Amino acid sequence: MAEHFTNEEIVARGKQAVMNTYGRLPLALVRGEGSWVWDADEKQYLDFVTGLAVNSLGYSHPAVTAAITQAAHQIVHASNLYWIPNQVRLAEKLTAHSFAAKVFFCNSGAEANEAAIKLARKQAKQNYGEDKYRIVSLSHSFHGRTLAALTATGQTKYQAGYEPLPEGFLYAQLNDIASLEQCVGEQTAAVIIEPIQGEGGVNPASPEFLQAAREVCDRYGALLVFDEVQCGMGRTGKLFAYEWSGVEPDLMTLAKALGGGVPIGALLAAEKAASTFQPGDHASTFGGNPLATAAGNAVIDEMLRPGFLRHVQEMSAVLRAGLDDLAKKYFLDGRVRGEGLILGLPVGDKGPQVVQECQESGLLINCVGGQVLRFLPPLNVSKQEIQLALTLLEQAFLKVIV
Ligand SMILES: *Cc1c(COP(=O)(O)O)cnc(C)c1O
Repeated sequence: MAEHFTNEEIVARGKQAVMNTYGRLPLALVRGEGSWVWDADEKQYLDFVTGLAVNSLGYSHPAVTAAITQAAHQIVHASNLYWIPNQVRLAEKLTAHSFAAKVFFCNSGAEANEAAIKLARKQAKQNYGEDKYRIVSLSHSFHGRTLAALTATGQTKYQAGYEPLPEGFLYAQLNDIASLEQCVGEQTAAVIIEPIQGEGGVNPASPEFLQAAREVCDRYGALLVFDEVQCGMGRTGKLFAYEWSGVEPDLMTLAKALGGGVPIGALLAAEKAASTFQPGDHASTFGGNPLATAAGNAVIDEMLRPGFLRHVQEMSAVLRAGLDDLAKKYFLDGRVRGEGLILGLPVGDKGPQVVQECQESGLLINCVGGQVLRFLPPLNVSKQEIQLALTLLEQAFLKVIV
């Protein structure tokens, strides 16, 4: 039996021993089942954060648990000096269901974006010469915390203190085609876009903007990169968010939900870019290891089952309608935005208070940019669970907003 600690004990000890990089809520999550988690004091929560869009199949999903268990018995890790059957299988499934021809595996979203940036620069220099290296991203974007991914992240609050940042990054405005046209030119190696900005406040890119990005990239021989680390893997009600727009990227990055909670990231590349990396050009010790890709296979198999994505779309309609009603009833200015089960509701500066009220009544949600409530329930959430979440949210509004 593991030693048992209370929330309070864990928080106190954590403050001593763990670096203070997160503004954490004072509770420790110790087990989960479906859409529900329990903290160290046995308090139960309905989880609409899902480990930040990671636990998309909910907690303790039997298929994921079985896959991890089997891999643990069979082989946890093998080097990429050898072929890894689970990795090959997952790459086949990802390419069969997307624009991509080949996949590179790593361990996180930031690493997947680093790989995308490196690949884009390498192929630009190879095909067009040394001066083609610029990366255009968007303001309010989020691409991760490693130095290049951080530089692509168009939010100065994350960059302050880490200068000098890598050179050659420019920022356009989301859904502003003119500003994109201004940033992209002969020197552009890649344009990187989240089809729905997650950390930036649940801001969807319009289909017209994505189409314009496709055109301007083609005009200048730049690669179009979609960062689907948060909005990919079924989150929007399609396997990949770009499917809603019909605009295909050249590169796409995945992470978060891909491993059902086991760390994994992936860079997917279309045929024309897929052979840029040759032996020695890029690598990751753990990338695509047998355990992580066992989990990845279980996750994608679940998501490809008939009816899974339709369920996401149906639950989205229920949650969206409920949030729209609350927005009207409580005279909120902003409208619900997002797609599928990544939805945002602007509530002004009361966001953090609403989050705290919800937590006290047993609902986990979070707030991006201090202003927008973000809802990321498990994709297999039930209608009853959504209705319960809406009830708890309304109770919080009654306390905080009225
Ligand atoms: C979370 C996130 C990342 C970074 O992923 P990590 O696994 O934390 O490195 C990158 N891009 C987007 C869109 C994200 O939401």
